[in-house]
Amino acid sequence: MENKWTCRRCGVPLEKKKVVFEYLNNSMSHELLRCPRCGAVLIPAELAEGKMADAETLLEDK
Ligand SMILES: [Zn+2]
Repeated sequence: MENKWTCRRCGVPLEKKKVVFEYLNNSMSHELLRCPRCGAVLIPAELAEGKMADAETLLEDK
């Protein structure tokens, strides 16, 4: 199964980037796919439906 993603806006391949979120006293990290040009981050559906939901909420609160 090929795992190549490209940015819809730029058409450039996304690169894996380890992103660390701080949540309360815990820090959790995920490897996300990020566009090197515009910085858009692709969040896999499984993360968006699970742990990432908490992180997204935290980011929105800031
Ligand atoms: Zn882009």
